Amino acid sequence: MDAFRRNLKKLAELAVKVGLNLEEGQEVIATAPVEALDFVRLLAEEAYRQGASLFTVIYQDNALARTRLSLAPEEALDKAPSWLYEGMARAFREGAARLAVSGNDPKALEGLPPERVGRAQRGNARAYKPALEAITTFATNWTIVPFAHPGWARAVFPHLPEEEAVKKLWEVIFQVTRADQEDPIAAWEAHNRALHEKVAYLNARRFHALHFLGPGTDLTVGLAEGHLWGGGAAPTQKGRLCNPNLPTEEVFTAPHRERVEGVVRASRPLALGGTLVEGIFARFERGVAVEVRAERGEEVLLRLLSADEGARRLGEVALVPAQNPIARTGLVFYDTLFDENAASHLAFGQAYAETLEGRPSGEEFLRRGGNESLVHVDWMVGSEEVDVDGLYPDGTRVPLMRRGRWVV
Ligand code: ZN
Ligand code: ZN
Repeated sequence: MDAFRRNLKKLAELAVKVGLNLEEGQEVIATAPVEALDFVRLLAEEAYRQGASLFTVIYQDNALARTRLSLAPEEALDKAPSWLYEGMARAFREGAARLAVSGNDPKALEGLPPERVGRAQRGNARAYKPALEAITTFATNWTIVPFAHPGWARAVFPHLPEEEAVKKLWEVIFQVTRADQEDPIAAWEAHNRALHEKVAYLNARRFHALHFLGPGTDLTVGLAEGHLWGGGAAPTQKGRLCNPNLPTEEVFTAPHRERVEGVVRASRPLALGGTLVEGIFARFERGVAVEVRAERGEEVLLRLLSADEGARRLGEVALVPAQNPIARTGLVFYDTLFDENAASHLAFGQAYAETLEGRPSGEEFLRRGGNESLVHVDWMVGSEEVDVDGLYPDGTRVPLMRRGRWVV
């Protein structure tokens, strides 16, 4: 077996053993781009070796999506396969694990009318809600594992021929997921320990707010009442640990939906439903982004932020050192799973239930400052030029990051 096949196999093993931490006899529901056929077969093989009872995959096809967005009648764009998403939600609640194969062409939907793209995305987000809820509330174990999609590789390495670009992207994927290490599973145990130490420190401090300061950024992010920091492996409702993201470098918690004030500038581009959004600037008043601009892709971003009342509020704040395996590549990935883990970030929209003590829902969730929305969009604000402090209600500050590095 050559080095590439060996690393690919190790990545599949990581996804099943560390990402999902698949239980003997468990069912797996996978989603993947059609281009990932071979990788999905490898994942399925690994899952069956680990005792999976049934591996079902749902493929996504960009060409089909483009055809629909070009030809379907306007009103039909609200339609989404709710029957499928309800079925997925039911399967997750009944114990099926969720395996998402990520990696897509960021330009997949380029050139299509943004209002049609936005309408279809909103329709899909509405229908997907029950399945998303089962995932975000950790009803089951889940993970997202990257795949070097040719369209993605072309975007990351625009000057290389496609075949070489794909090869290079796989190398980067193996690096940042630690799949190329001698014993990736042991590497992940050490990585999880380091993340869990940061989580324990931040949970013990009980900060009232975080303050971000850098070029174009002077932002105070209030933290939700009884907020909990998370990062690395996380337990499902039944107490089984899984690693939702491969790779992951972040520790994150819930902002208070009504206590975010100031201005902030994005430090990296954001890929949104196939469109690149660059140069985001936002101004917050009492938790709401009252002013949002972008140098590129603004229309798509604003459409998404008009999804509902919560879309202009924050549902996540995450700290990531500016020096980490993903940032070290020096690449812009045009993929949130990678780019968000390269830098400290904020997310517009839905907050994760597990970032509040006791996983409250409904009124209690909102009262404590948790945010509700159909969307969850991470955008990167951290860099080697950004400092972060923890704030107490009396104004006392504790330096957490200086020039993008942890100082605690
Ligand atoms: Zn995050
Ligand atoms: Zn997020």
